Amino acid sequence: MHFCWISLIILSLSRVQAQFYGGNAYEASSGQSIRLGLITDDATDRIRQTFEHAISVVNNELGVPLVGETEQVAYGNSVQAFAQLCRLMQSGVGAVFGPAARHTASHLLNACDSKDIPFIYPHLSWGSNPDGFNLHPSPEDIANALYDIVNQFEWSRFIFCYESAEYLKILDHLMTRYGIKGPVIKVMRYDLNLNGNYKSVLRRIRKSEDSRIVVVGSTTGVAELLRQAQQVGIMNEDYTYIIGNLNLHTFDLEEYKYSEANITGIRMFSPDQEEVRDLMEKLHQELGESEPVNSGSTFITMEMALTYDAVRVIAETTKHLPYQPQMLNCSERHDNVQPDGSTFRNYMRSLEIKEKTITGRIYFEGNVRKGFTFDVIELQTSGLVKVGTWEEGKDFEFQRPPQAVNFNDIDDGSLVNKTFIVLISVATKPYASLVESIDTLIGNNQFQGYGVDLIKELADKLGFNFTFRDGGNDYGSFNKTTNSTSGMLKEIVEGRADLAITDLTITSEREEVIDFSIPFMNLGIAILYVKPQKAPPALFSFMDPFSSEVWLYLGIAYLGVSLCFFIIGRLSPIEWDNPYPCIEEPEELENQFTINNSLWFTTGALLQQGSEIAPKALSTRTISAIWWFFTLIMVSSYTANLAAFLTIENPTSPINSVKDLADNKDDVQYGAKRTGSTRNFFSTSEEPIYIKMNEYLNAHPEMLMENNQQGVDKVKSGTKYAFLMESTSIEFNTVRECNLTKVGDPLDEKGYGIAMVKNWPYRDKFNKALLELQEQGVLARLKNKWWNEVGAGVCSAKSDDDGPSELGVDNLSGIYVVLVIGSIISIIISILCWCYFVYKKAKNYEVPFCDALAEEFRIVIRFSENERPLKSAQSIYSRSRNSSQSIESLKTDSEENMPVED
Ligand code: ASP
Repeated sequence: MHFCWISLIILSLSRVQAQFYGGNAYEASSGQSIRLGLITDDATDRIRQTFEHAISVVNNELGVPLVGETEQVAYGNSVQAFAQLCRLMQSGVGAVFGPAARHTASHLLNACDSKDIPFIYPHLSWGSNPDGFNLHPSPEDIANALYDIVNQFEWSRFIFCYESAEYLKILDHLMTRYGIKGPVIKVMRYDLNLNGNYKSVLRRIRKSEDSRIVVVGSTTGVAELLRQAQQVGIMNEDYTYIIGNLNLHTFDLEEYKYSEANITGIRMFSPDQEEVRDLMEKLHQELGESEPVNSGSTFITMEMALTYDAVRVIAETTKHLPYQPQMLNCSERHDNVQPDGSTFRNYMRSLEIKEKTITGRIYFEGNVRKGFTFDVIELQTSGLVKVGTWEEGKDFEFQRPPQAVNFNDIDDGSLVNKTFIVLISVATKPYASLVESIDTLIGNNQFQGYGVDLIKELADKLGFNFTFRDGGNDYGSFNKTTNSTSGMLKEIVEGRADLAITDLTITSEREEVIDFSIPFMNLGIAILYVKPQKAPPALFSFMDPFSSEVWLYLGIAYLGVSLCFFIIGRLSPIEWDNPYPCIEEPEELENQFTINNSLWFTTGALLQQGSEIAPKALSTRTISAIWWFFTLIMVSSYTANLAAFLTIENPTSPINSVKDLADNKDDVQYGAKRTGSTRNFFSTSEEPIYIKMNEYLNAHPEMLMENNQQGVDKVKSGTKYAFLMESTSIEFNTVRECNLTKVGDPLDEKGYGIAMVKNWPYRDKFNKALLELQEQGVLARLKNKWWNEVGAGVCSAKSDDDGPSELGVDNLSGIYVVLVIGSIISIIISILCWCYFVYKKAKNYEVPFCDALAEEFRIVIRFSENERPLKSAQSIYSRSRNSSQSIESLKTDSEENMPVED
């Protein structure tokens, strides 16, 4: 009876309260509103204000409005909190938002669970108690984000600083992700219970070699740690902190902005979001809260944001699921439960909400919230700046916006005693390389090269100090679409390096995010290819001095003139001669210009030989003289040209211009450095030929090289590969690799500059010093040293111009072939003639051909005798079956056909 009375009083009190907080009061059992209870231990009243604001926002969209009831309890006072919960239950609450104190919340969760009332806990939970409905990212996901950020920083060791044992769960997950091959992690605990004094821990950090620290802990704990870190002196440019607390944006970071310490963290929402701005406005009105001065900061905590979002989830659920919370008795003896409570809670977890929330997409896998993103934020002088977006399962990469450095307050612009980090690329000779030495070199002594010397010269002039660091092969580019930079550019933009010197081309795209000095070298893109190879001498290279037409006309002239001799000789009476001079009145005259003799005469003249045929008539002499003159000129020309042709071999190259390359003439492939201005030249050019080449390069990524050396090696390997490279680098390589050459003219004109951070205050001084070095001839001297002296001289001038070389067998093999073939032909002719002679002899003596052949053969092989009997057929005759033939007839025959002894 008493209980009924008390309940009635509490109920009526709660209605009054609901009216006060939620605007309209509705009967819980009337079905016209849904009560939400907030039990908060937040003394600042911000959580309550957020809760009320969220309800008023969602009520604009709801048919059945939400009514908020807030119970303020002391932090950690579970008894008080439970009493308030009872009161809420009796008033018919549909869902309860728990306090921050974990044990209190855990207690309330159990009570709500037993009554099937959804319990909402908007704080980081550890998977055990308290759990309920929690929108906070799990410790595993926070560990995943920290893992990706550490990977981006490429840390090989760091300190993991945690506040209390539960945060070891993050470490545990990190270690699981790393497996056995992770960075070295030194684990240190700081604990508020140690009188809030972390200085001993921080001093240990200062004394250790580590300067990279991952900090996890409560919002108050982490904020205090950073404050004390500054006091201990480890909040400076040597230290990098990654903060694993989602409330970094609420910290007062003013003190650390100029400390140059790198502080990176994560947050779930930006202060610029509409929902956040509305809430800030509300808190400003209600509590007089003012906006923080630093950009990127807000006083809206994760707890407030998650309270707001949880109200949004409840509102969305009520749109789909009718829910009429009943008044309950909180005593455990009463087993009354909220009839649709567990269904309502399950439905909340099955929803996916993408809009009108503060912390982004809400979606659950089991009890764990997933599918959200973190803004990765970094403290810069302007405040917190977003430098990337982390999303589970996606590769995380920093996307730092170009940093506008304010150098106004730096100093008077003097470089004296300043130390700069200078990026070089040690794989790019001659600009920089590692010194080869048996001693272990450290620091700047490890490096040598044109760029290294140039920085030394500048340092001598301007008085600054420098530390060289290898920046790799990727010089970098700026992507306007994603606003991201890469390679050396990124290092400079993000302030990890001050200068970069290598074969770094000045481009407008790079100029958008960094500055360049005036160019210290001018160049253009050209083609590196193997030197034209000497063609192997052709078999009939002795024919080369004359073109085939000349040979043809020479043959025609030879035949024509021989015919003329034959005709003119017959027409000239003087050429008709007495064949037997001792017979004074011969019966017949003979003309020496038979067709045979005519051909022989012209042949003798053509080959500069005699023929023992002497023209006697004027006409034949005239034509002889003309023919001799003709052959004199022809032979002289041939001789002169032959020497040149045989000794100077014309080297041939399949490609002579960029057009040949674009056409893949003779199947020559080509490529360039994978990243950099050369590749960009083709990808941005609007010239049809370069567009075509760009398409080829896109289609053949295997032709793109990581650095110039790889390209040079591929060209050298002789696999019909040409490398598009900058003319200065080509020049360097062709002096050292004798079989390489530059093909064609440069495709463009540009220069190399020293890269520096945008608006660098020392740029003018640098440029002036560079100009002085140029005027004093220092740049020329350095160029000569690194191009023509160090490691050069391998290719002597001789190799370019070999001069006349002796003729080899290859050069003259054709003429040998002619000789052999001619000899074989003459042997064949002589054998044929010999057979014909034997045939005629056998016919005359009427002996078998074989007998005659055997007899003649015997005579021929009688090498000791140089004479043969006049009638050598006698022996044949004697053995012949036709022995009746007279000696007379034999004599006649032998006189006509057989060799006759003198
Ligand atoms: N000099 C170029 C650059 O600055 C590199 C190259 O393309 O060869 O990216």
